[in-house]
Amino acid sequence: MAPSDSTVTVVNPATERPLADVRRHGAHEADAIVRRAIEAFPRWRDVSPSDRGRLLRRFAVTVEEHADELALLETRNVGKPIADSRGEVAMVADVLHFYAGAVDKHRGDTIPVSGGVDLTWHEPLGVVLAIVPWNFPLAITSWKVGPALACGNTVVVKPAELTPLTALRFAELALEAGIPEGVLQVVVGPGATVGAFLVEHPGVAKVAFTGSTEAGRDVMARAAGTVKRVTLELGGKSANVVFADADLERAAASAPAAVFGNAGQDCCARSRILVERPVFDRFVDLLVTATEAVVIGDPEDPATEMGPLVSESHRSRVAAFLEPADGDLNVAYRGPDRGGPGWWFAPAVVAPAPPGTRLWRDEVFGPVVAVTPFDDEDHAAILANDTPYGLSGSIWTRDGARALRMARAVRAGVLSVNSNTSVRVNTPFGGMKQSGFGRELGLEALDAYSDLKNIFLSTEG
Ligand code: NAD
Repeated sequence: MAPSDSTVTVVNPATERPLADVRRHGAHEADAIVRRAIEAFPRWRDVSPSDRGRLLRRFAVTVEEHADELALLETRNVGKPIADSRGEVAMVADVLHFYAGAVDKHRGDTIPVSGGVDLTWHEPLGVVLAIVPWNFPLAITSWKVGPALACGNTVVVKPAELTPLTALRFAELALEAGIPEGVLQVVVGPGATVGAFLVEHPGVAKVAFTGSTEAGRDVMARAAGTVKRVTLELGGKSANVVFADADLERAAASAPAAVFGNAGQDCCARSRILVERPVFDRFVDLLVTATEAVVIGDPEDPATEMGPLVSESHRSRVAAFLEPADGDLNVAYRGPDRGGPGWWFAPAVVAPAPPGTRLWRDEVFGPVVAVTPFDDEDHAAILANDTPYGLSGSIWTRDGARALRMARAVRAGVLSVNSNTSVRVNTPFGGMKQSGFGRELGLEALDAYSDLKNIFLSTEG
């Protein structure tokens, strides 16, 4: 297909070479896709729970059988290391397995009332619109598709225009696995036009959005017109808080992956490291040594740990954080410059970084970490909370009571202690403050893709 207004040329960020020309949908086609999803809904809703579970299980196995193909496609489209893509595709299959098993476990209640019996059950919403960003295209698609299909909804996925390839293949694999036509479809196109059109579409019952806080605000406003259910997984500026009594070597060794993984394009990136003042210099030395060891290179090489940024315009946005108008930053380390082609960006450690600045409070979404000292627990909590975001974070200490006090004090939806992990298939994931609301993954996600109905049966007369 020759590129035209109605096609998107998808590019490999590591080589700048075109990968594929993909059909771009306009409003007319997007409308037709929503109509097909509406038509497919009653049939999918009425599939028995055990059969729906069986179909999702078969979908999971089909993904596993195509794992290498999907991982390579993701690596080429996003520029992410192949080892990461393999892990993400394995997670996609796990998500589908988990929700296959959850179909018949989303139970209602019977509630003691006078004069009869009161009972509740969950019902699907109808057509779910899943809007997905470019940083973890297939993984985040599965976080929405798994619970939405398990609950009996049909789904329209709107991937980021830069990275539609794995979502398109995923929908083909769903058909191969026996998921009926119209149950899982993909619309390709820009967020501001076709995305906004879908959000306002009266046939869409719910929007499950992951992306920037700015776009999330627009989605929320547009969804208000038809009072759609909305869940928002937005930006982050997570703090990694390291106390002097922590295992400093372990904390420093794991810090680079937590902020330079996916080239920093991770909503959970620990892009601020707070270190208790007496061990600040030692920690920075250990962090720089660990950062020097990060393997930057060809994303298709299994040894690579960091690839390029996703696009040229995103690289310019990230670079601006290192060139603030109000003075120089203390750059303690800057990685090697790889040159072109490809949208490479060398990792940077800024230490000490002044709190209150744009670098401190805003999401960079690139491989830049700001490190600053703190004096005590209260000071650490004030610094950690000094951002509009509240998604994730870490606390490193050997004192269990302190870890729990800090976990209470930090306003973020997902925290880990002596670890930098955030996401597990069977635990709830989501933000506080302007990182959004609603929870994905775990059994909790099922509530976000269903309505609760309450029925009273009189036993009198
Ligand atoms: P983005 O907000 O630009 O786009 C995300 C998706 O929304 C894309 O599919 C885009 O086309 C669509 N979109 C944009 N504007 C829209 C509109 N007005 N109406 C409907 N759809 C619209 O984000 P991005 O640049 O693709 O991704 C990076 C952002 O995503 C970062 O802020 C990151 O923190 C966030 N993110 C959050 C999570 C989380 O779980 N909290 C996970 C990954 C990424």
